[in-house]
Amino acid sequence: MASSKQSIAVRGAGVVGLWQALTLARQGHAVTLYERSEEPFTEACSLYAGAMLAPHCEEESADPVIRRLGVRGIALWREIYSGTVTNGSLVLAQTRDRVLLDRFARMTHDAQRLDEAELAALEPDLGQRFGGALYYPNEAHLAPKPALEFLLDEAIAAGARIKLGEGDSPKDSDIVIDCRGLAAKDDLPAVRGVRGERIVVRARDVALHRPIRLLHPRFPLYTVPWGDGLYMIGATVIESEETGPVSVRSALELLSAAYALDPAFGEAEIVALGAGARPAFPDNRPRIIPAKGYIYVNGLYRHGFLLAPVLAELVAAYIETGAVEPEVFLADPA
Ligand SMILES: Cc1cc2nc3c(=O)[nH]c(=O)nc-3n(C[C@H](O)[C@H](O)[C@H](O)COP(=O)(O)OP(=O)(O)OC[C@H]3O[C@@H](n4cnc5c(N)ncnc54)[C@H](O)[C@@H]3O)c2cc1C
Repeated sequence: MASSKQSIAVRGAGVVGLWQALTLARQGHAVTLYERSEEPFTEACSLYAGAMLAPHCEEESADPVIRRLGVRGIALWREIYSGTVTNGSLVLAQTRDRVLLDRFARMTHDAQRLDEAELAALEPDLGQRFGGALYYPNEAHLAPKPALEFLLDEAIAAGARIKLGEGDSPKDSDIVIDCRGLAAKDDLPAVRGVRGERIVVRARDVALHRPIRLLHPRFPLYTVPWGDGLYMIGATVIESEETGPVSVRSALELLSAAYALDPAFGEAEIVALGAGARPAFPDNRPRIIPAKGYIYVNGLYRHGFLLAPVLAELVAAYIETGAVEPEVFLADPA
């Protein structure tokens, strides 16, 4: 790749495309961001995210590359976005499910075991009802919508042009970076959707300060404090690309689990129920794929907020020097 400044089209204004546009515009490239929806974020999976930045907890089920890149992802968010909250995260289980907590600790690094008193010091509302917890102090979270709005504003401030309601393949650019998420299936047939349902509540009587995962053999749950009394309660992992309304079963399970975590959720107001389909490759690993004249950035699965900044940094380095990170520049698996 040539190292001079280029004219770059980015397709898709989800968290992935926004980070690409911002990073490349700040480096002096002439960036145009194309989004097919008339209103930003209305068709983006990104709006449904937690958005936990949890490289250590995710290691329980994810490839080690997620943790390695995710640590950098948190650093990049913290550099530019003051809404990044670094209070760590907690993993809990009822005393009868302690075996799940032990397994989670074995599958991850960096967990600190907390006894009841230590848990109560961090989260007074929880301390007396759980036999213990795992604490991951270096994890972070943010509220997704304000973060997406921030990225869009910053990309514009850095000189990026934004074209809404434009779904056609861009012409006349030196480089096209395709960040269309699930819609890129037309070019990348191996991409699939993994449905995630979530409920947003306003709970003025709940005072939790960090993301909390409650382990359970059948009804696991996490909740993320978004500020202003808002909590995201999520999220199912269903092999389906449907983004239709939340089912009664899922709503019952998620809300019951939240009530078990903290009975003060019983008085919460339900603000939103909805589902997004996470774009994922068969191995659930993210990919940067230079092919067919495009650079595809896709497959961020459960880690779009965590990894989008890092993949933007890697694409920028590729454009500048041709450098390739072998764990992420992978072939199209189709
Ligand atoms: C319930 C749930 C919880 C989640 N929690 C977390 C979490 O806690 N932490 C985390 O890191 N990740 C989380 N995720 C995952 C994260 O949301 C995704 O990985 C991420 O949103 C994928 O972003 P994206 O930009 O690739 O896709 P999208 O957000 O879907 O963006 C793609 C964009 O491309 C646009 N587009 C489509 N076709 C075209 C076209 N032809 N031209 C122009 N634009 C087009 C779409 O309109 C859309 O705006 C969660 C996901 C869900 C569903």
